[in-house]
Amino acid sequence: MKVLRPKALLPAVTAVTPQWLSERGLRAVLLDLDNTLVPYEAYGEAPRHLLEWLEGLKQAGVRVFLVSNGSPRRVRYWCERLGVPGFGPAGKPWFGFREALRRLELTAREVAVVGDQLFTDVLGGNLVGAYTVLVPPLSSREMGYTRLVRRLERWVLRSLNPEAFDPEGVRPGPTIKD
Ligand SMILES: [Mg+2]
Repeated sequence: MKVLRPKALLPAVTAVTPQWLSERGLRAVLLDLDNTLVPYEAYGEAPRHLLEWLEGLKQAGVRVFLVSNGSPRRVRYWCERLGVPGFGPAGKPWFGFREALRRLELTAREVAVVGDQLFTDVLGGNLVGAYTVLVPPLSSREMGYTRLVRRLERWVLRSLNPEAFDPEGVRPGPTIKD
């Protein structure tokens, strides 16, 4: 069960600020795309607040890298619009994070893995030893398979000890919706 426990639960990806990272000795963020940065299947212009947040990270010297299970075309589309490097499909939870660390030339201890899914982002991040952050999904529109996974996630989150999470994060439960 420990391998499914996120180190922190935050209300949104933008809560990962340069200060929050430096307080934890983190220098880079490996980001999930779908339902973490943009709603599942969404295309279009990058939201302004997202671009501003990314710009703030870059100015603070925080490296940002996208690790997505999305198609190459979709990942390339968003990498271009967000101005960040990344790749997909990464094959999370078993693959992807090690490759990203290799490309960034960083160790797992130096990076946060941020995503909306326990069984891909959190599990994969924990398996390599990164600082894992779970955020609520941006959209409830998902594949049937993922909806089933959400029910399992809620069960796992309820069974984890809330006191064990990063104290500055949010509590599991109310912010994790379908
Ligand atoms: Mg996701």
